[in-house]
Amino acid sequence: MATTKVAIAPMKVAQISKAGADFEIVEREIPKPSAGHVLIKVQACGVCHSDVLTKEGAWPGIEYPRVPGHEIAGVIDEVGTGVFSWKKGQRVGVGWHGGQDNTCVSCRRGDFRNCQNLKIPSISYDGGYQQYMLAPVEALAAIPESLSDVEAAPLLCAGITTFNALRHSGAMPGDLVAVQGIGGLGHLGIQFANKFGYRVVAIGRGPENAALAKKLGANVYIDSKSTKAADELQKLGGARVILATAPNSKAMSELIDGLGPNGELMVIGATFDPIEVTPIQLISGSRTIQGWAAGTPADSEDTLRFAELSGVRPMIETYSLEKAAEAYARMMSGNAQFRVVLTM
Ligand SMILES: [Zn+2]
Ligand SMILES: [Zn+2]
Repeated sequence: MATTKVAIAPMKVAQISKAGADFEIVEREIPKPSAGHVLIKVQACGVCHSDVLTKEGAWPGIEYPRVPGHEIAGVIDEVGTGVFSWKKGQRVGVGWHGGQDNTCVSCRRGDFRNCQNLKIPSISYDGGYQQYMLAPVEALAAIPESLSDVEAAPLLCAGITTFNALRHSGAMPGDLVAVQGIGGLGHLGIQFANKFGYRVVAIGRGPENAALAKKLGANVYIDSKSTKAADELQKLGGARVILATAPNSKAMSELIDGLGPNGELMVIGATFDPIEVTPIQLISGSRTIQGWAAGTPADSEDTLRFAELSGVRPMIETYSLEKAAEAYARMMSGNAQFRVVLTM
């Protein structure tokens, strides 16, 4: 019997075969978009600390093998049926918000960011550590022309998270706003805080990042290794908002006494360890602690446009897709300056 060889179009994929496994580079067939989905030719994908959830299986219900990555910048290669508002060749990004169900109570209230069945690329479906990926249309954000792919990618999680948390924090121009941690999130948070017109305090460990923090837009630098950062913040009048970006609950706990009246600890550095706070700390000065997760694709577009307008840009180190393991290790080391980005 004659056999016909079907030519498959392979693509390179960096996948995790099971929870806790190392990265492996494999070839897969380029998938076809189903109804309501698009196929994206990925150009760049940022490496976020939350990729640890996929790598180590710390998020419940992940099916393996799974491809991490939720800071995706690329070009639409093909649209599925029923997709009318997006076109082949259009530049798009996908961030943490990988699609909502449109039917839960949060969605019915228009609060898509808090969809109870939120889909997350790299957790609910394969993310951006690959040459092509599928995404539902409700996950797509348009990328402005002037931003390159490697610049846009980190803005789709690190960028939107800091931008959106700050703009919803209640801090007004002129208010004292501290950014804890000068890393992937923090170096963007400092820039956004400066452009929002805050009096910006950067809090880092050690003197190394002082000059850079000021260059990024901090008015004051506090070294939390050599001083008690909460006391230093009180000397400045107390922070209206502290944007806690470093995934270190102990460091966050130590900052709460640095909040001024009605001050808010805005938590975006994700970790499972508890933050310690006494009721008295919260009651005196009516302080609050709030968490914030990314935002919708419309928020992503706001972030990208604001970056375009204001000149906020991520500082990046790029690695090829084949070096995904090395790139991930670099991110985990905490030494990256400051966001690691894979290029395909
Ligand atoms: Zn992220
Ligand atoms: Zn929903």
